[in-house]
Amino acid sequence: MSQVVIGIESTAHTAGVGIITSDGKILSNQRAVYTPEEGGIHPREAANHHSETLPGLFKAALEEAKLEPKDISLVSYARGPGLGPCLRTGATAARAFAYSHNIPLLGVNHCVAHLEIGILEGAKDPVLLYLSGGNTQVIAYAAGRFRVFGETLDIGIGNGLDKFAREAGMGFPGGPKLEKVAKGPELLDLPYSVKGMDMSFSGLMTAAKSKLDAGHSLESVAYSIQETAFAMSCEVSERALAHTGKRELVLGGGVACNSRLREMARIMAEERGIRCFVPKRALCVDNGVMIAWLGWQMMSANYAISEQDNVVDQKYRTDMVEVTWR
Ligand code: AMP
Ligand code: MG
Repeated sequence: MSQVVIGIESTAHTAGVGIITSDGKILSNQRAVYTPEEGGIHPREAANHHSETLPGLFKAALEEAKLEPKDISLVSYARGPGLGPCLRTGATAARAFAYSHNIPLLGVNHCVAHLEIGILEGAKDPVLLYLSGGNTQVIAYAAGRFRVFGETLDIGIGNGLDKFAREAGMGFPGGPKLEKVAKGPELLDLPYSVKGMDMSFSGLMTAAKSKLDAGHSLESVAYSIQETAFAMSCEVSERALAHTGKRELVLGGGVACNSRLREMARIMAEERGIRCFVPKRALCVDNGVMIAWLGWQMMSANYAISEQDNVVDQKYRTDMVEVTWR
């Protein structure tokens, strides 16, 4: 009989509670997103948002799944990486639910969860292009761990898009707003910063703002940002695919909701003759389902829960996770 896992996400602006069965059937994916009134994410305010919304999200998820706490076999939560106050709020909610209903509790790595949701889409051993607000990484499994093949050397791509959009007076979140106006026609020359397998986005966003100030249209600047930043991301992913010899690409993170990014990744995959898996938008963004699913992957490989598994770790890196379930 299949088991049921509940997952709690709270690493940054999203509070999420997801429920999935051990055979991969999604029963609920409840989310609430904190949107700052001005400026970037304030960790304490985001944490307050999560503590206000999580009880309702638990209730809504259980109702949608038509389940009661006693039906749940595992409570999984995002242990890190993320903003300290947000992580602690999610972990506290997870602990309260697990301990009061006597259910095992397991903290998992948020970035690895983005990759594992690609397994649910049918990938077996993919390279993940993970583009979100705070994180920008190219990840793949090699020799017992998920290795970071390439990453940003400064800001995350999503935070870069948000910062540019904020400075252009467009509000938050910037990524989707820029996508709407990214029509060109001009392809402007912006810094294309790929250093080996790593990328940087900070100079690109500053240069883009200068182009805007110099009188180029927002349509052209937004278009040029997308073309440049996404080409950089696809180039590094392609290099990781070539180095590892892997034949599957998975997209993850909020920026992977972008249609142009999806198109570029598909073209690259097609030209290499490999498969490209693009999870539904609700599974690309931060969500509780992927947290639950990773928890189940670990438990089904007889992961032994230890004391370390109910803490949080702001700097819990992808390659710190000992992978026993592959
Ligand atoms: P995450 O941190 O994974 O939840 O993703 C949030 C980030 O994704 C924010 O920086 C958003 O601006 C960005 N984002 C969301 N939708 C899009 C889109 N359609 N195009 C580009 N960026 C997006
Ligand atoms: Mg994420």
